[in-house]
Amino acid sequence: MEIGGIMKKYDVIVIGSGCGMIIIEEALSHDLNVALVDKGPLGGTCANLGCIPSKMLIFAADRIAEIQESKKLGIEAGIRNIDFGFIMERMRKFVRENQEHMRQGLSHAENLDFYEGEGHFVDDYTIEVNGEKIKGDKIFIAAGSQPLIPPIKGLDSVDFLTNETVLQLKERPESLIIIGGGYIAVEYGHFFAAMGTKVTILEMADRLVLAEEPEIAEALKKELGRRMDVYTDVRAEEVKKNGRGVTVIATDAKGGVKKEFTAQRILVAVGRRSNADLLRVENTDVEVDKRGFVKVNEYLETTKKNIFAVGDINGQQMFTHVANVEASLAADNAIHGSKIRMDYSAAPHAVYSHPQIASVGMTEEAARKAHKILVGRAKYSDVAKGEAMMEENGFAKAVVEADTGKILGFHIIGPYAPILIQEVINVMASGGGIDQIQRGMHIHPAITELIPVVLNNLKSTTS
Ligand SMILES: Cc1cc2nc3c(=O)[nH]c(=O)nc-3n(C[C@H](O)[C@H](O)[C@H](O)COP(=O)(O)OP(=O)(O)OC[C@H]3O[C@@H](n4cnc5c(N)ncnc54)[C@H](O)[C@@H]3O)c2cc1C
Repeated sequence: MEIGGIMKKYDVIVIGSGCGMIIIEEALSHDLNVALVDKGPLGGTCANLGCIPSKMLIFAADRIAEIQESKKLGIEAGIRNIDFGFIMERMRKFVRENQEHMRQGLSHAENLDFYEGEGHFVDDYTIEVNGEKIKGDKIFIAAGSQPLIPPIKGLDSVDFLTNETVLQLKERPESLIIIGGGYIAVEYGHFFAAMGTKVTILEMADRLVLAEEPEIAEALKKELGRRMDVYTDVRAEEVKKNGRGVTVIATDAKGGVKKEFTAQRILVAVGRRSNADLLRVENTDVEVDKRGFVKVNEYLETTKKNIFAVGDINGQQMFTHVANVEASLAADNAIHGSKIRMDYSAAPHAVYSHPQIASVGMTEEAARKAHKILVGRAKYSDVAKGEAMMEENGFAKAVVEADTGKILGFHIIGPYAPILIQEVINVMASGGGIDQIQRGMHIHPAITELIPVVLNNLKSTTS
């Protein structure tokens, strides 16, 4: 607060209430004076607009897909009704309550001032928010990212959806075109297809989910293709209103041939962009990279002393679990004067499409550039439980350093992939290799047997 012209000074200012909350807790537990600046929604993307609401919706979609697929097990089940309004409202209620809970927690915290508004840098250690200037000895930028809106002709003249506005839908769209083929696109594709919407995915690249192994992306396209129309190599060029709906005019990336797609609504999910511009970092010595993300070193320090950047805003690996680890590491380095390096080698992620995907570490292509490698593969149906599940399409792939047995990467597509991969993540994070996996007994019959089986199949391969 600026009282009588005196600027309020803090030991720590945190911009962003997502992973930034971890830094606040750490600072408060050391009796530091802290300011939180957040423009809302309180709690950040994961809690309000990302992981939590989307996975609440997708949980219902998964149940629907399971029922639809149960026929292969000899169970003929029908779904009488899908209450879209209920499914959406259950999610919104949870998000609202969570926000309220957080707000109450903040109001009771001592040594913490919450500035609810959009803040920006005036100079290196001064932030202006709601017309007030505050100064911090140490500043943590945890301001996240926002949906990237591509410059498609006519897009701004239609009421398109993003990962933010889609959560406010009260009625199920009859048909939906999703522009983009990354994880947000395929997750919402799965959700809406399960709800009964006719979904069309348009991806500019030659495959979906570009961060994944190409064979996983291919398997995903094939599986999703059973429930929706999936086009890769197609670039959306123009969007036009069409009666009560919209038409997307796209060109085939290979032949330049024009194609038209029509639906009731469009969801734009082509990626994320940094929030650094809102912060006016140009008023400081904090540098951004050419994509606009705040540059950090391995200690998560920006180019200006005592200013740190964590989470999506630094553009490293844009997932909540990564953001949270970065936040505690940066707090440790800043508050305790530690010098701990951020290590992304065992950073995992999941895609909650149907089928699910989970991945940790390097792809085969990336690993091959720096290591002599062995590659192993196995199908779910290679283990007893996979057979019992009648899982015909799921598989896993391991990338291992040939000389040491160190696991460099592991990739799974199929049921429970995000749970299955945890064993590998733990071994990778503790510097272990295939021996550590093989040493532990694996319950028979459980789908976890897939992991050692993949590692039994290691072979030297050429690209
Ligand atoms: C649809 C979707 C699904 C996702 N699903 C997953 C998932 O399943 N698992 C996963 O790990 N990750 C998922 N993510 C990614 C995850 O949400 C982000 O990686 C994570 O939320 C980043 O946290 P953060 O703390 O860096 O930023 P955020 O949580 O975005 O927090 C930043 C905060 O800063 C505030 N802010 C920004 N600029 C200013 C300013 N100038 N002044 C004041 N306040 C400001 C914002 O309003 C926000 O509250 C998903 C993302 C999306 C969009």
